[in-house]
Amino acid sequence: MCLSAASAASPSRFLSPSSSALPRRFLHHLLAAPPLRSSLRCIPFHRMAQFWTQGSLDKNKALVEYLKQYGAVRTDKVAEVMESIDRALFVAEGLTPYTDSPMPIGYNATISAPHMHATCLELLKDHLQPGMHALDVGSGSGYLTACFAMMVGPEGRAVGIEHIPELVAASTENVQRSDAAQLLKDGSLSLHVADGRLGWPDEAPYDAIHVGAAAPEIPQPLVDQLKPGGRMVIPVGSYFQDLQVVDKNDDGSVTVRNDASVRYVPLTSRSAQLQDS
Ligand code: SAH
Repeated sequence: MCLSAASAASPSRFLSPSSSALPRRFLHHLLAAPPLRSSLRCIPFHRMAQFWTQGSLDKNKALVEYLKQYGAVRTDKVAEVMESIDRALFVAEGLTPYTDSPMPIGYNATISAPHMHATCLELLKDHLQPGMHALDVGSGSGYLTACFAMMVGPEGRAVGIEHIPELVAASTENVQRSDAAQLLKDGSLSLHVADGRLGWPDEAPYDAIHVGAAAPEIPQPLVDQLKPGGRMVIPVGSYFQDLQVVDKNDDGSVTVRNDASVRYVPLTSRSAQLQDS
């Protein structure tokens, strides 16, 4: 198990009055960083401590450097975008944003671990060229939607869909403080309250679709909204989950492969997600 600083802290900025403690059944999402390659699975404490003690301006850059060393960030393109979007803006005060761990954002949701963000950005980077359309289902903190927006630029579209209205409000504030603020203002980045299982037809078809919560099976509306030549990255499963890479071929058929075993919160209904919060 990797470092779990998140488990000790309560993100008061995001929590509703009724969710001051996360229910037991969601704790494992916080305690278990999703496994990647074996070299990434466990981060020596002294290596991470070195990142906590640096000056605040450099810490996000140092986190990206760390992710490079451990193989999660492999390209300059992904390094640049993760350096430009400061993770601290998307994590509640009092937590440690620069550790490689998922962290609670309230409402039984988490911001994914940095190495999962990096993994998804690496898998999707060729489908996040300037001018392309990207959909982020279960946008949560808004971190990845902001990264997508920076990559597709002002001529592209980055759409975040999240079914908890309070998280959409919080993520909008997060993005407004980030380097992606202008893109939000100009409308190439947008965040919406909706059921992500239905996608967002308004900006379809998408070159890239990311799903930030685990679906029991790949939702057909998302496949329908993927452009031929486009790619979707989606965790599929319940307790045991695979990060699946879905490529849509030119004839409309899809090719699916498993990239890694992962652990995400479920892609579900709002009431099921909040039932024991
Ligand atoms: N990529 C996000 C992950 C957030 S956790 C981040 O790193 O911040 C997954 C998110 O999916 C949660 O915010 C949860 O509220 C949301 N979610 C779950 N089911 C959903 C659904 N049916 N429609 C939209 N969002 C959903």
